[in-house]
Amino acid sequence: MLMPYRPEPLTDFSLPENQAAFASALEAVKSELGRVYPLVINGQRIELEETFASVNPARPDEVIGYFANGSAVHVDQAMSAASDAFETWKHVPPAERARYLVKAAAEMRRRKHEFSATMVLEIGKSWAEADADTAEAIDFLEYYARQIVRIADSSGLLAPFPSEQLDLQYIPLGVSAVIPPWNFACAIATGMMSATIVAGNTALWKPAEQSPFIAWKVGELFWNNGLPDGVLNFLTGPGEVVGGRMVEHPQTRLVAFTGSREVGTGIYEKAARVQPGQKWLKRTVLEMGGKDAVLVDETADLEQAAAAIVASAFGFQGQKCSAGSRAIIVDRVYDNVVEQVLKLTRQITVGATDRGADVYLGPVVDLDALNKIMGYIELGTEEGRLLHGGKRIDTPEGGYFIEPTIFGDVPRTARIAREEIFGPVLACMRADDYDDALDIANDTDYGLTGAVFSTDRARLERARREYHVGNLYFNRKCTGAIVGAHPFGGFNMSGTNSKAGGPDYLLLFTQAKSIAEKL
Ligand code: NAD
Repeated sequence: MLMPYRPEPLTDFSLPENQAAFASALEAVKSELGRVYPLVINGQRIELEETFASVNPARPDEVIGYFANGSAVHVDQAMSAASDAFETWKHVPPAERARYLVKAAAEMRRRKHEFSATMVLEIGKSWAEADADTAEAIDFLEYYARQIVRIADSSGLLAPFPSEQLDLQYIPLGVSAVIPPWNFACAIATGMMSATIVAGNTALWKPAEQSPFIAWKVGELFWNNGLPDGVLNFLTGPGEVVGGRMVEHPQTRLVAFTGSREVGTGIYEKAARVQPGQKWLKRTVLEMGGKDAVLVDETADLEQAAAAIVASAFGFQGQKCSAGSRAIIVDRVYDNVVEQVLKLTRQITVGATDRGADVYLGPVVDLDALNKIMGYIELGTEEGRLLHGGKRIDTPEGGYFIEPTIFGDVPRTARIAREEIFGPVLACMRADDYDDALDIANDTDYGLTGAVFSTDRARLERARREYHVGNLYFNRKCTGAIVGAHPFGGFNMSGTNSKAGGPDYLLLFTQAKSIAEKL
């Protein structure tokens, strides 16, 4: 029997013993760096001569690990293994499948700091951000384990029909292409993959090129724990090649993707094309970007609002789909709030995050990201007023550091107010009043998260009705969704609104079979 789900508590890094434990986990992970990792197909470790390096973005010469540069041929091999494995895995009872997740969660909890330390080194997360990422991964495992057991019980769902014995079964779909991003490198990679397999599907799982090491560690929790061969196949390599073939393959039944709008819309199109020999319409679960806003009116607690703006904009270097990259502030309090935001931003510590728990802002993930973000900053100096930051920070090791950057008086038409930058760049926007602020907030192609700071009940009620985002928060930051408490997924170009960590999520990984037997 499973105990009720409870979110995993976060680590209190003000306690010296927690700091010491984390520092020693970092040292342990450092001793593992630089090894070579294979593909895993049908339980077999397949080493390839051709590899690519995952590197520490704070010190790009530091290689985290060398990963197999897979190709379309490997995808086809994995597809064959996953198709065979599906024939037995689909009949394994849901409660039995759930136990693999619960066991993996227990192991991840025991080795929590190791998983978090891996993300500090591989993607430059601060200790607190990495700890939250691992906690979220544990939450997904525990939550989906319970959800599949609930979904398997259809009693009470159907209208009584006395002359028949009725049943509604949520059965798995088939082989799934699971394609996560690098930013919630443990949480999303774990969440999408575990949802897939606990629902009875088998997976071709391709982590992002920037974060294969943490995914490898997650995979090991399953492979070393008796998961049948072929259920979870691990493929690394270029997204367009390996991911591209996974999406295209006629035997792919479901594509679960989280990443950029550009790649997501391309996958949507490709998955819609029926390939020769394909017997179904592919299911797609596509979660994409955001241009999220924190809205502040003149009745708000301005100090709290300013703190939330800074946390939403700069947590993990602004590299969250939920990042509050726009602060929309009504004119009467605009100068006051911006002043407080600047004051807090000046206190932000930037550096290699393995230095300590107090380093808030690490590097951006790679050189491409750095160049893209610096391009937007250059554009911002034409579109708005640079109030803070704006420069790359040079370090002897050539890390990808960018100052937390704030633009003021950014017009709603500006590209830096409309396009996802995915870096530490905040656009402050002046609104005439609350009406105008809400209008600006909704004037976007996206619709993922949003926050409103106000003490006016009528305005909050109006935002409930009119602020068109999948995750709406009042008087708190717009990042930090908790599994089970804040089902997560957006509207419009933010994706298919799958609501990860919510009660409906696993249904997307199944199809319903209605059975009636005449009595
Ligand atoms: P990305 O789109 O570059 O890559 C995502 C994944 O897709 C990676 O595994 C990549 O290798 C793979 N890929 C790349 N090209 C492919 C192709 N042609 N076919 C198949 N797969 C391909 O995104 P990213 O840089 O890893 O992640 C950042 C993006 O993810 C941001 O836009 C962010 O907003 C978004 N995101 C959204 C959510 C959400 O829940 N809505 C959560 C986290 C991140």
